[in-house]
Amino acid sequence: MKKIAVLTSGGDAPGMNAAVRAVVRYGVRHGLEVIGVRRGYSGLIDGDFVKLEYKDVAGITEKGGTILRTSRCEEFKTEEGRELAAKQIKKHGIEGLVVIGGEGSLTGAHLLYEEHKIPVVGIPATIDNDIGLTDMCIGVDTCLNTVMDAVQKLKDTASSHERAFIVEVMGRHSGYIALMAGLVTGAEAIIVPEIPVDYSQLADRILEERRRGKINSIIIVAEGAASAYTVARHLEYRIGYETRITILGHVQRGGSPTAFDRRLALSMGVEAVDALLDGEVDVMIALQGNKLVRVPIMEALSTKKTIDKKLYEIAYMLS
Ligand code: ADP
Repeated sequence: MKKIAVLTSGGDAPGMNAAVRAVVRYGVRHGLEVIGVRRGYSGLIDGDFVKLEYKDVAGITEKGGTILRTSRCEEFKTEEGRELAAKQIKKHGIEGLVVIGGEGSLTGAHLLYEEHKIPVVGIPATIDNDIGLTDMCIGVDTCLNTVMDAVQKLKDTASSHERAFIVEVMGRHSGYIALMAGLVTGAEAIIVPEIPVDYSQLADRILEERRRGKINSIIIVAEGAASAYTVARHLEYRIGYETRITILGHVQRGGSPTAFDRRLALSMGVEAVDALLDGEVDVMIALQGNKLVRVPIMEALSTKKTIDKKLYEIAYMLS
């Protein structure tokens, strides 16, 4: 193997750059030519390629986002689009492709292998932590720290004004961020798509805590469960006072990656290159326990990831 390529695709996640840097430097150290594909699958179809040398990835570990840029590419979802992408890969003599992205990006990578036998290795990077067979995806820890920090700040003002704050967090269909953020900030309630919510019970609980002297309430809701406005509508007439709504939005995606994310990203980058060098393809690098393993991409994608219901109960018991 002489030439490999790397791309970032779908939603950006902090730590993607650290993974790119590891792929490039580890690849170059092993005598490979490494090509960066700009703008994800759009760039793959257009042939938007750039040769990346060792020095080109200096100082990017600490940067959020992705220096390669990313995109959502509808054309790649079609067989014709993937055929164009495969042609570009073959034309440029690329013998292996590392795809860094979420569920959609990894589905695309698998199809490139299945339809055109392009040797692909996936790296799970998404703040949603919704990919099966891996404990963590790149970006999750940084996102959680951002949410924790924001909720902590809201708690200060919630206490001062004796108010209930409803905080909407990201996660697509997953309640992982909401659950973990609620757990580490001691939120009064956590609303996630995986567990049905009983608003009457929730209102009773908030009122009961008020009676016991608690002066603030933080309710964290995952975007996949309900909007903060819906939660407010359900609660306000039951508790009899106004709530305040905060939708954290895209700040959750940005920022310099945490030490955990940097370490995860760089070791997954190295493992991805090793997998290609070993001739192992159509696999995703996954963190299981404290170890990196290679799992078939389709197996990861078809394994439903659920939140830890016990942790959910513990969060309630401790709040
Ligand atoms: P993420 O990778 O963060 O989940 P998306 O779901 O938007 O983000 O996927 C990123 C890109 O991956 C899409 O724009 C598309 O190019 C490609 N992709 C997503 N789903 C598929 C699919 N089912 N088949 C082929 N390519 C896909």
